[in-house]
Amino acid sequence: MTETPLIVDAGPTGLSAALFLRERGIPARIIDAALEPSVHSKALGVNARTLELLESTGVTEAMLAQGQITRTMNLWRPDRKLATINLGGIDHPYPFMLILSQAESERLLTEALAERNITVERGVELTDINAGDSGIAVTLSSGETLTPSVVLGADGAHSTVRKTLGRGFPGSSYPEPWYLCDARLTTTLDPTSPHAFLLDEGALLFFPIKGDLWRIFSNVADPLSHAPAGTTIGTIEWESDFGFSHRVADTLCADNVCLAGDAAHIHSAVGARGMNLGIEDAYVFAALVAENRIADYEALRRPVIESVVKTVARATELPRGHTMMSKIVRRVPSAIAWLAPKAEHIIRPWVLGLDHEIGVD
Ligand SMILES: Cc1cc2nc3c(=O)[nH]c(=O)nc-3n(C[C@H](O)[C@H](O)[C@H](O)COP(=O)(O)OP(=O)(O)OC[C@H]3O[C@@H](n4cnc5c(N)ncnc54)[C@H](O)[C@@H]3O)c2cc1C
Repeated sequence: MTETPLIVDAGPTGLSAALFLRERGIPARIIDAALEPSVHSKALGVNARTLELLESTGVTEAMLAQGQITRTMNLWRPDRKLATINLGGIDHPYPFMLILSQAESERLLTEALAERNITVERGVELTDINAGDSGIAVTLSSGETLTPSVVLGADGAHSTVRKTLGRGFPGSSYPEPWYLCDARLTTTLDPTSPHAFLLDEGALLFFPIKGDLWRIFSNVADPLSHAPAGTTIGTIEWESDFGFSHRVADTLCADNVCLAGDAAHIHSAVGARGMNLGIEDAYVFAALVAENRIADYEALRRPVIESVVKTVARATELPRGHTMMSKIVRRVPSAIAWLAPKAEHIIRPWVLGLDHEIGVD
């Protein structure tokens, strides 16, 4: 009989869950099928809510020492800037977005766990799970069987936990591929702030990472040929094609098995909510386990997750450029220049992850 909670995932969601549980005096077992952590930058935006949740663990301080603070976002047409959105001016200890490679965030979370004598078991895959009135039974790739008191399945978009338990992942996917790269740039763009260029057929987004390294992502053909005047693309450090989907698991938690992070919800990168929402899932999961009320996870997380996925899908239509409204905005750019400052009070808490209560202490 294994009473220890089991966390399946050493990505940002699972690492945070193990840390939050430990902070509440509950050591968890954390496994990951991958032998090594990912080295890719992936999610770059650490929002105010995440910084607030991780503050007491010391990870926020470590993240702030490594990352770069951004307080603004810029919207452009190819030939002119339309608006600068100010993320500050909000009553919060962290009124900004921190730009930090996901690989670095994961490293800092792993170190914080190690300081608390919790080590990720790597190369250990969950191969089977059953859950019901008689409890949870898990089989690992090593052949070991466990009966954990509670399981957090945060094992990514293709989650084995979700699929094995027969939970659906309804939603939709965009047909078009998006291009992503991390590249060295020589540029006149402000390196302390992201820049979104609304092109006729889509968008080209520039996100500063560190020094001359920038993330570029786009849904137009031959995206790098659309680099703005004053920007020269140098060495490409990493590139990838990916698709955007908007999906939420049809059951987030039942029989003491909860889903979190990309296993529970996926959406486009617009707004940088993905990793941050997973870390928030982890916080709520840990609080509910500690208070012995994990059954509340579904009711607490579903409205938040569904609202975020819905608003991200809506916001993605502007850069994507497929809807009538997003085409009109491109034809009448003065409209966005006029509207953006007036919408700052909505955009700001949304981007910083402060647009809702999380419902636990
Ligand atoms: C190319 C790319 C770019 C991205 N860019 C952004 C971005 O700009 N902004 C943003 O917010 N988000 C971005 N994301 C999404 C972000 O990376 C995810 O939201 C985040 O990684 C989710 O973390 P997670 O811990 O929930 O899951 P994951 O990071 O997917 O981790 C899942 C882990 O589970 C492990 N696992 C899987 N199955 C099993 C099993 N059966 N047993 C044991 N372990 C298992 C895997 O090895 C993996 O380590 C990007 C993702 C990709 C792939």
